[in-house]
Amino acid sequence: MNSKSSIVYIAIGSNLNNPPFQVKKAIKAINYLPKTNLLSHSSLYKTKPLDFKNHPDYANIVIKISTSLSPVILLKSLKNIEFNHGRVCNERWGSRIIDLDILLYDNLILNSQTLTIPHSQLRFRDFVLLPLLEISPELTLPTGEKLKTIANNNKEIYIINKTTIVYDSSTCSNSFM
Ligand code: AMP
Repeated sequence: MNSKSSIVYIAIGSNLNNPPFQVKKAIKAINYLPKTNLLSHSSLYKTKPLDFKNHPDYANIVIKISTSLSPVILLKSLKNIEFNHGRVCNERWGSRIIDLDILLYDNLILNSQTLTIPHSQLRFRDFVLLPLLEISPELTLPTGEKLKTIANNNKEIYIINKTTIVYDSSTCSNSFM
């Protein structure tokens, strides 16, 4: 049994059925995973869709967790949460009720058929880079690059605004301010 605890960053996004509500529901479900604890989260970001300009805006957030789940089991667990939340659309960058991506898993670099860590799109998305910076301003990627440098060099702007979100893990209730 792997009992070592790892630090993992997860990006959560939704643009259907009350996106802020879907994001909160996903945080709660992740916090309920076995051997997993929510450590911190970013503000909630409202963002423009990537490719489909006529699709609804997204709510995006990044969370930091500690977990003893392996990367593969964590991915399976996140896929289960997506399924249980009613995700049906698998069109690349199409609308989705919930999308859960593993951004970073300790200092792991992994390129398998089902899992790429760090996430392949991490460096191209302001709605991932800025929330990550909010949580961990001094973060260095497994490649040795500073997150700050990557964020400063990013030219792709999708963020419209951000809202403070307060998640109370003791009661598992949460609210937006
Ligand atoms: P998505 O459309 O974002 O849900 O991703 C589709 C597929 O990407 C998943 O079924 C995973 O097998 C794969 N994938 C590769 N790397 C990652 C990652 N770091 N986090 C989540 N999914 C990933």
